[in-house]
This record gives sequence, C-alpha cells and structure tokens, in this order.
Amino acid sequence: MNEYDSNRILDFVKKINYCLTKSLKDTDCYVLNTCHIREKATEKVYHEVGRLKKEFKDKKKPIILIVGCVAQAEGDMLLKKEKYIDAVIGPQSYHEINKIILNVEKKYSRINSTEFETIEKFDQLNLIKNNESKTSSYITIQEGCDKFCKFCVVPYTRGPECSRPFSDILSEVKQLVDNGSKEVVLLGQNVNGYNYQNKKLSDLIYSINENKEVERIRYTTSHPKDFSNDLIEAHADCKKLMPLLHLPVQSGSNKILKNMNRGHTIEEYLEIIEKLKDKKPNIKLSSDFIIAYPGETNDDFDKTLKLLHELKFINSYSFIFSARPGTPAADMNKIENKIAKDRLFVFQREAGLLKKNYRDKLVESKTTVLIENKVNGQNKYFGRDEYFNSVIVNCDKDLRGEILDIKIKNCNQNTLYGEIIVNDKYEEYAA
Ligand code: SAM
Ligand code: SF4
Repeated sequence: MNEYDSNRILDFVKKINYCLTKSLKDTDCYVLNTCHIREKATEKVYHEVGRLKKEFKDKKKPIILIVGCVAQAEGDMLLKKEKYIDAVIGPQSYHEINKIILNVEKKYSRINSTEFETIEKFDQLNLIKNNESKTSSYITIQEGCDKFCKFCVVPYTRGPECSRPFSDILSEVKQLVDNGSKEVVLLGQNVNGYNYQNKKLSDLIYSINENKEVERIRYTTSHPKDFSNDLIEAHADCKKLMPLLHLPVQSGSNKILKNMNRGHTIEEYLEIIEKLKDKKPNIKLSSDFIIAYPGETNDDFDKTLKLLHELKFINSYSFIFSARPGTPAADMNKIENKIAKDRLFVFQREAGLLKKNYRDKLVESKTTVLIENKVNGQNKYFGRDEYFNSVIVNCDKDLRGEILDIKIKNCNQNTLYGEIIVNDKYEEYAA
C-alpha cells in the first residue's frame, strides 16, 4: 500500500511542478514514506534523516517530509527531536501535500498533518489521474481497520475501515489499463471487508473481470473473519482472478488466536479453505505468521507448525512478535528472545522446505507468465505466473505485457527459470 501511496503522492506533487529525481543530490523535496508495522521504524527515520544531513551538509537543505504510519504514530516526537524535518504527514492526509510543500517553501511553519481524512483523501485521489504505467498495478480500494488485533498498530495509524466509492475504483482501473496495465492488485488492510453502499469485494471482482483489457486480478490482504461465501463464488466464477489466496492466520493455536483477538478459530479458518478448495481445486495458499506471541507455549508453536504442514502454504511470511507502542499486546510478557529466535528458525526452516518441495515439482512443468520487465542490460525478462512466482525467461524480443506459456527448467528459493513454449500464442505475440 505504501508503494501505491508513494505513486499517488507523485501524481499530486506533479500539480505543483515537482517531479521524481534520479539521484538524491538533485532533490528539492525529500519524501520518506514510512511503515510502522514492526520495530525499528522510528530509528530508521532518524537514520535516514542523518544520511540526508550528511549528503546536504554543504548544500541547500531540501524540504524533508516524513509521510505514512510512523508520521501518524510519532509525528509530534519526530518534529520535536529532529529539527531537520519540515513536516509529518499521516497516511490519511497526504492529499494535503501540495499545500504543505508550498507552506514550507514560504517558511511559514513546521507542520503536523495527521488527521484521519480518509473520505476526503479518496475524493482527492479521484480528481487526479493515476499515471502508473506498469504491467501490474496496485489500486487501493479500502483502508483502515476496526478489528483491533492486540498486536497491531494499523487501527491507530490508518484509522477506521473506509471503502472507496465503487465507481471511482472502476474508473481508476480504466486509467491503469489505458496506461498499459494488464493486472490489477486490489489493496486494503482488510480488503475483503470492502463495503461501499452494500457493494462488496466480490462485486468489484465480477465487474473488473468484465473489463476486456484486464487480464489478471489479485487482492490482498484479506481477513478470515470477512471471508464470505460470495467471495468464494467469485473465485470459482471469475477466470481472471488468480488462484492464489493470501490469508493470514498468524498462529495455529486457538488459545493464541483468542489472545490476539483475531475473532476466529483454526476450525473456522480450515472451513474457509475447504469450501474454497471445493469450488476452486487449483487454489494455493500463502499466509502471515507471528512467532512467539506473548503466552505462546511449545505446544502452541507445535500447532502452528502442524497447520503449516497441513495446508502446505507456498509462501509464508513469518515474524517474531514485535511490541508496538500503544497496542494492548505491548504490555504483555514477552517470550524470551532466544526462545523466540529458535522458534522462528524452526518455522522458517520448515516453511522453506515446503516451498522448496513445491518449487522442485514445478521443474519441467508448464506455467503461464505475465511478462512485466526486461532484466537490466540482458535479453531476459521477468514475469509472474498465476501463483505470483517470479519467473525469468530468455528472449530477444520485447514481450512486456504479454502472457506466455513457459516451461520451467530450473529454480531456486526465489526465482523460477523457464523457456518460452513456442506455440500459436507466442507466434502471434512475436510477429
Ligand atoms: N489485515 C491483515 C490481517 O489481519 O491478516 C494483515 C495486515 S498486517 C498490516 C500485515 C502482517 O504484519 C500481519 O499479518 C502480521 O503477521 C504482521 N504484524 C502486524 N503486527 C505485528 C507485530 N506487532 N509483530 C509482528 N508481526 C506483526
Ligand atoms: Fe492489524 Fe489486520 Fe488485525 Fe486489522 S485485522 S488489526 S490490520 S492485523
């Protein structure tokens, strides 16, 4: 979402004649878009500002704007502690950025803009064209969260759940495909909580599926509690919706899920997956895990490992619990660091083996890849298959934006290497 926000910030500032610089030394205004989800976020900001101070020691200081969730959570402190920062701007008020830059240019004051103005921001976003011209483009459809998991800062930094108007999303999708996008990735902190005048995420997917220019649809990140049957039906009905579901589970233990305030049990999670597999047999899964959440025993951790093996996630993102200031879990007793690190090691080793096993089996199989970019200076192209696996192919023709059948010849932990299958589809593109 920060990537989407950064692009939209660029769309805004173009209105006051700012543009993206190629190198730091040319910058008049430096925007640092920040994430607060795990530890060290604030230190990273001070570190980055220190780097800027050095770079501009003998030059005119650029305007320094700290944007995003660290600005939201720690704005006053940042302004107080670091005089080099000109303004802090929360994730729901970056539509104010031009006003802020103009004020700072006139040296009126240092500014803290951290109101939750999500509806106003969505309205302003709708007034400026999305200039993104990538093969695969992000689009925010929903922001904020009302679920208040005990470990998470999002409800405090992004504010309450708010969905963008349905028609605004469809017109932004049109802008993106007019710019050459073939894939749209619908974004939200709780993307399947999307609800605009009773239109749901599934309604959006059905509508986008009708757009002839869109080839692929993805969405992230969804929450098990909001995973309704209509969304499961959409997976079965919409050919363009890719067969990979990222559904964070966090832990395999009901006790821990309850202590996290996740609002569902493992049995309910498994029921969703079962229903989905029933309707869409080729669906695969990825998930997020928090390791060593306060109160996690060896037995709870074993339940997480058991779930990992049972569902064979093709990608697992795992992090040691990080105490976020202001969240209820920050006051709970932390698991000893060594135990937490050992558990993370074991979890990542097991998840890595599952992933390797899955990827080894792909060798010599056929996959379908949307080609996104040329690899710098080489006759190689990077793309993603339906399961979001990175694939690299050799080719001397520019095939960006095309969807090709590829035979996988080799793989490592992060990348599949393939050969283009020369068939009618390829001949048509290459002609
Ligand atoms: N809304 C999504 C959900 O509920 O599943 C997840 C969004 S959250 C921004 C992304 C991921 O960051 C979470 O799934 C969780 O695994 C991780 N995360 C959030 N807070 C964390 C914390 N305090 N410590 C460790 N990981 C955390
Ligand atoms: Fe954070 Fe997701 Fe829980 Fe909301 S549902 S509080 S975004 S982890």
